[in-house]
Amino acid sequence: MMKQWKGKPDVIVAGAGFAGAVAAREMAEAGKQVLVLEKRDHIGGNMYEEENEAGIRIHVYGPHIFHTNDEKVFHYIRQFGQWDTYEHRVKGKIKEKEVPIPFNFTSLEALFPMEQAKKLEAKLHRTFSGKTRVTVLELMEHTDQEIAELGQFVFDNVFKGYTAKQWGMPVLQVDRSVISRVPVVLGRDDRYFGDRYQLMPTEGYTKIFENMLRHKNIVCQTGVDVMDLLTLQPDGTMRFDGELFDGIFIYTGMPDVLQNCFGFLPLSFFASGI
Ligand SMILES: Cc1cc2nc3c(=O)[nH]c(=O)nc-3n(C[C@H](O)[C@H](O)[C@H](O)COP(=O)(O)OP(=O)(O)OC[C@H]3O[C@@H](n4cnc5c(N)ncnc54)[C@H](O)[C@@H]3O)c2cc1C
Repeated sequence: MMKQWKGKPDVIVAGAGFAGAVAAREMAEAGKQVLVLEKRDHIGGNMYEEENEAGIRIHVYGPHIFHTNDEKVFHYIRQFGQWDTYEHRVKGKIKEKEVPIPFNFTSLEALFPMEQAKKLEAKLHRTFSGKTRVTVLELMEHTDQEIAELGQFVFDNVFKGYTAKQWGMPVLQVDRSVISRVPVVLGRDDRYFGDRYQLMPTEGYTKIFENMLRHKNIVCQTGVDVMDLLTLQPDGTMRFDGELFDGIFIYTGMPDVLQNCFGFLPLSFFASGI
């Protein structure tokens, strides 16, 4: 490996995805010398894109849409490139009919007899007054039998297959908070996300990441696994590339990998990276 950094950085960031790029940028803006190491051969993490042979940008690790309700986040991200408004709409095939996903009143009317659908809509409005999105679990676990049955229908026809496929495990093993990420919409909003700001980068995500990491205080090297260079000593100190490292270490990979490499991690270890 050809080292692209010199001397000791103040901050080492493992990972050049969104978390790593934002952390590195913020630390650099605060005057720290930051070294970003990324084990893949590209920046951008799971949001990385590249052009295919036809010149079309492909989201290599699956499609990503930037969405937030937070105005501060919206303004922050716009510093790093141009963005277009994009609202994602998805249809799924249930019982041979193409219906909006997340499941909404249009889906309900397509799959249930109209009179029953209208009755259910009125009941849902009354029961969840003021709410426009609920979780499928809220429906399934409701004391009203009709609402619970509707919840079970949506769970069986939308969540079971989709969630199991997405997470590669039987749906009952998927955490409840994950199942709750896709709502049931109490109305006709057929957008996949309900957030105020929904965007796609005009020139692609990779460009945004390049701009985020382009800073005089940041050195970024790809193709380097931090775990090959960083060791945690029994006394709690860290060695990086053979030398004592007493700066800030920010790790943005999978937590269980960190645990597997270092074994038990004291709480102070997590605190040192934040
Ligand atoms: C199919 C799919 C669709 C998604 N769609 C959306 C969406 O539409 N909108 C949305 O907001 N989110 C979406 N997400 C979640 C999305 O991936 C995250 O929001 C975002 O990529 C998280 O960024 P991150 O930096 O936390 O993690 P990552 O993007 O995973 O980046 C972590 C980086 O750390 C690197 N790394 C790990 N360990 C090491 C190590 N030891 N040394 C060096 N480098 C290391 C990894 O290689 C990786 O590049 C989706 C996820 C998937 C899988």
